[in-house]
Amino acid sequence: MKIFHCDHCGQLVFFENVHCLNCNHTLAYLPDRRDVGTLKLADDGLWRCEDPQRLAGTYRLCQNYVAANICNWAVPADDPNPLCRSCRLTRIIPNLSVPGHHDAWYKLELAKRRLLCTLLTLGLPLHTKAEHPQGLAFEFLADPDPPDPTQPPVHTGHAQGVITVNVAEADDAERERRRLALHEPYRTLLGHFRHESAHYYWDRLIAGSRWLEDFRSQFGDEREDYGAALQRHYDRGPPGDWPARFVSAYASSHAWEDWAESWAHYLHMADTLETAAGCGLSLQPRRPNEPRLTARPELAAGRPGDFDKMIADWFALTYLLNNLNRGLGLPDGYPFVLSSPAIEKLRFVHRVVRQ
Ligand SMILES: [Zn+2]
Ligand SMILES: [Zn+2]
Ligand SMILES: [Zn+2]
Repeated sequence: MKIFHCDHCGQLVFFENVHCLNCNHTLAYLPDRRDVGTLKLADDGLWRCEDPQRLAGTYRLCQNYVAANICNWAVPADDPNPLCRSCRLTRIIPNLSVPGHHDAWYKLELAKRRLLCTLLTLGLPLHTKAEHPQGLAFEFLADPDPPDPTQPPVHTGHAQGVITVNVAEADDAERERRRLALHEPYRTLLGHFRHESAHYYWDRLIAGSRWLEDFRSQFGDEREDYGAALQRHYDRGPPGDWPARFVSAYASSHAWEDWAESWAHYLHMADTLETAAGCGLSLQPRRPNEPRLTARPELAAGRPGDFDKMIADWFALTYLLNNLNRGLGLPDGYPFVLSSPAIEKLRFVHRVVRQ
């Protein structure tokens, strides 16, 4: 994620903010410019950018910004859709009459917007189902409460361009309970969105494409029975040597999951490296064999550039990140170790994204 500033007072502002904390002006993310803008309400009821260089831009606030307080994106005034580019992708929202679901919906949309921002920055195709036959949709579904044995549980997953997320994943305590039960080092809402987006883009970019042969040589044959592979994973656990071949234990369950875990990982890297570069972060160690990081302008502009440089930067950045977390008594922010085969899979994702 890049670094944003208030157009009115220059204060550092965040992707999630709706007001500048210094001057209190209204902020909105402008997806057409991939930037947070400071907006002023004009007499015609439309919002205009404070930055004089952007005067041409007029906007409405997303309906979910105005009416529900769960969004902070704007819609260009000439776009007839009342919902922003992110909210229009959600076709089922949580049942808001259930206590806690408004808060859950906010967290789900927030994580989703961060995913979409990275996808747009990387130049990946992003359409609704109304705009494109291979468009994308999101559904936020909850298990019946009280439990109903006649109804199947809601699985977070992807099928035919629809990403379903179980609303319970937005509950921190419940997500942590699931993380521990599944022996996962990392489980976040954003991670779910990144992972499921991988399945969507596999269908869109890999299936039936010139990448398929290369894909199978690195990730394995995705025609293996998916249901049986997952059952085997949950019954017997991952193979003992998974750390030498996969980015995570779950990646070892099936070629599609290997792809999804690698893709999600690549998006973690792209977003975090962009933020570090945007902040001007560089590392100049006193010893020559310790990780070095040079702020690269192309990273700050959201272009990952050369993969070998990207992975070298990533090692340096995560070394710093984990050390800082330990200083705060927190678990490692990046609880992964990348083996050479896992890095080659990330390189494959990089090539697909670049193309
Ligand atoms: Zn301000
Ligand atoms: Zn919205
Ligand atoms: Zn998956």
